[in-house]
Amino acid sequence: MLIQRLAIIGVGLIGGSLARDLRRAGHVGEIVGFGRSLGNLQKAVDLKVIDRAAVSAADAAHGADMIVVAVPVGSMHDIFTQLASALVDGAVVTDVGSVKGAVVEAAREAFGARFAAFVPGHPIAGTEHSGVAASVAGLFKKHRVILTPENETDASAVARVRTMWEATGAKVTLLPVEQHDAVLAACSHLPHMLAYALVDMLVRRDDHRLTFDLAAGGFRDFTRIASSDPVMWRDICLANTEAIVELLRDFRENLDALSDAIARRDGEWLMQTFERAKHARDAYLKHDE
Ligand code: NAP
Repeated sequence: MLIQRLAIIGVGLIGGSLARDLRRAGHVGEIVGFGRSLGNLQKAVDLKVIDRAAVSAADAAHGADMIVVAVPVGSMHDIFTQLASALVDGAVVTDVGSVKGAVVEAAREAFGARFAAFVPGHPIAGTEHSGVAASVAGLFKKHRVILTPENETDASAVARVRTMWEATGAKVTLLPVEQHDAVLAACSHLPHMLAYALVDMLVRRDDHRLTFDLAAGGFRDFTRIASSDPVMWRDICLANTEAIVELLRDFRENLDALSDAIARRDGEWLMQTFERAKHARDAYLKHDE
């Protein structure tokens, strides 16, 4: 058995999906869950995602050999602090947060001498839905999971977390924390900001009903991620502030250049820009197949 007792702190989309995969693969003995609302935890028991609900994070971690923290990034420090006193020798703690710098800092402060047992992680998979009801088996298959261990991180803890994710069919990649946060700001955090900003701008127009009525597939594709959980995205913005602000500045400059080109009716500039972007996206899709 890969994991004797798995503790999932935050049994939502990501934590629940991981629990489902590990159970389906027969890699886990018992799964204990902890969260905020009893309703969600009861649903997790009813759906057989977890075997039982714990009364606290420390209670969930009691006797667990693998502890996965899957709460929003802004709640991680509080959870780590609650876990710190409950960790036993040999237990590994990992997280799934979308930002790594702030989470590593929080873990270093909360775990102190036990920081070596913490393996920072981030599965690059998900949906715009939240809660255990949205969790599904197979969510991570063929998706990447990034681990960002620090110098002090115990190599055997990294190996155990890698094996756990590989059991879900994910491909594990190791990256430095700073690189993770810079790259994810570009490919994930910035697009979410654009989707939220676009929908929020359009909904405040007088003709928003007609605008949404007439919107077609392109609008739906572009704005799907604006249905994501606001708490999760507020926390990501507050945890990866510098990188996101810098990218928004770059984006604003590019948008100004586009606006200027349209205003001066510069068809050649527009063609070059659209062709470059189409070529890049087509190549990316081909590579991704
Ligand atoms: P989710 O579906 O909302 O699940 C989060 C769970 O954490 C909820 O069940 C919630 O409990 C619980 N929770 C929230 N605050 C808590 C607290 N202070 N103490 C205990 N439990 C708490 O969210 P998710 O999408 O799985 O995201 C979880 C983490 O994964 C986040 O850090 C996010 O950045 C990361 N992530 C998300 C995605 C994605 O696409 N969604 C992808 C990769 C990584 P209640 O239900 O009782 O409120």
